[in-house]
Amino acid sequence: MEISFYGGASEVGRSCVVIDDKRKRYMLDCGVKLDSEDEHYPAIEAREIRRVNHAILSHAHLDHSGYMPGLYAEGYRGDVLLTKPTRDLIQLLFADYLRLNKGVSPYKETDVKRMLASTKMPELGERHGDVVFHEAGHILGSVMTELNLSKSVLYTGDVNVRPSRLLEGAARNVDAEVLIIESTYGAKEDVHVPVKDASNALIKSINATFAKGGKVIVPTFAIGRGQEILFTLENFLRSGALKKTPIYLDGMITKALRIYRHNAIYLKKEVQRRILTSDDDPFKSGYYMVPETKDRSDVIALERAVILTTSGMLNGGPVLTYLKKMASEKKNKIILVGYQAKGTRGRELLEGADEITIDDQKVQVNLEIDQAPFSAHSDWRELLELVRGMRKLKKIYVMHGEADKAKQFADTLSHEFKRVSVEVPKLGETFRV
Ligand SMILES: [Zn+2]
Ligand SMILES: [Zn+2]
Repeated sequence: MEISFYGGASEVGRSCVVIDDKRKRYMLDCGVKLDSEDEHYPAIEAREIRRVNHAILSHAHLDHSGYMPGLYAEGYRGDVLLTKPTRDLIQLLFADYLRLNKGVSPYKETDVKRMLASTKMPELGERHGDVVFHEAGHILGSVMTELNLSKSVLYTGDVNVRPSRLLEGAARNVDAEVLIIESTYGAKEDVHVPVKDASNALIKSINATFAKGGKVIVPTFAIGRGQEILFTLENFLRSGALKKTPIYLDGMITKALRIYRHNAIYLKKEVQRRILTSDDDPFKSGYYMVPETKDRSDVIALERAVILTTSGMLNGGPVLTYLKKMASEKKNKIILVGYQAKGTRGRELLEGADEITIDDQKVQVNLEIDQAPFSAHSDWRELLELVRGMRKLKKIYVMHGEADKAKQFADTLSHEFKRVSVEVPKLGETFRV
């Protein structure tokens, strides 16, 4: 069996792994990577793409899914295995992606259609040929993939073992001989605080800004963290711990929310119950608002508001409109959530920039910058827990992490599992297993 890493090797972005087992070829994820200006695709040649038999998509995020339609543009004619919510969510993401990349995107709408026509949607825990999907706990519809080939393989994709407000944590005790694991928070300093503490800190931070007469911008991924934060706010508004405020939902997050509700069966039992008892439906809170004007002046004019908007790393989206108008005022606050990749405005703010550039315009940054430690990924200790549950393990490949994170996590694993060989693949590297 051969495993090749065409993306996500010592980087976060363009995840793409191909497993070649006696003429059966599986591709695990096929994403894009955006760093500052440039977009990068998996480093795989068209003829290799055409030799793949089945593609598997772990979840909707573009760093895993973004180049899947590109496979069809390059002549791939196999199927794509994914869950139903992932299929719903990628349609939203691809439409947005094509709109933003008009004329420069590596594929067209016809390729997206061709891909959607080739999807197969196994249920979690159900065997589909060589493949079994298991809950990954990362976002709606996210899965870890078990592949039963000449060796058994587990590909975690992005994974979160602990239950969140909306999802059960990742499945435990899935065994395999070969493990391909993410390492976004693989370094020893990456220790997540409990969800309860993160929630309390968020509410405290928002209340403090309200006390000063400011508004709060919370940029998030449209899918995943956005819904977690929203439900946290809703919860604290109901209990009265958060001062009464409208929550503005801007950008794709509103549509994504509908998909979440529509696929409630993939959410936590407790959330399903609340939806069914209708008068307590967390998706239909009276606090949720959408902006009415294109320039968002109706929201800017308000005395108090929490604005939940995309994109999470300030690469684009309505968050930039708000920043242009609100960043110069000291009393306002921006609360960054989760991972901020190198080269993004989010990272610049975290590193203390007092000025950022939006549409060739310099924007003074005076507003307060805070961070909410919500994560849709496990930290290294939780990842280690996941690995400890595996009995047959012989080989581990550490990917989906910046170089130092992947390296540190690999060191941690080698130290703990002396008889397992641990590798940090380089881009384009192939291993014979
Ligand atoms: Zn993800
Ligand atoms: Zn990812």
